[in-house]
Amino acid sequence: MLKCNEVQKYIKPYVEGNTDIFETIELIEHIEKCEDCYEELEIYYILINGLKKIDNDEDGAFNIKKELNDRIKNSKKKIRLYKSFREYSRLIHSLANISMIALIAYVVVRYIIRML
Ligand SMILES: [Zn+2]
Repeated sequence: MLKCNEVQKYIKPYVEGNTDIFETIELIEHIEKCEDCYEELEIYYILINGLKKIDNDEDGAFNIKKELNDRIKNSKKKIRLYKSFREYSRLIHSLANISMIALIAYVVVRYIIRML
């Protein structure tokens, strides 16, 4: 797990929608366990999106925390998807390795048989 100051540099990009999946994983998994960093994120989120909202509609300020929660939920969904995809591609990769070995063995055996 990254330290708070390492994670906090992802807060601004996250709020602006500029983090890649790896940075998102670091940030989300950290704020799940670290209240300080979650608060940092919340404050920054309110600062950036809240001010816009308060200008536009009266309930904006009340909905802003929910909006951030939805955003985090959505990120978690992406992370789950990414992780299961990664497991899946690992599996495919090891199956591919096994088939490659089988293929080489087959070619070698055929070659030896021809030599006999
Ligand atoms: Zn932290």
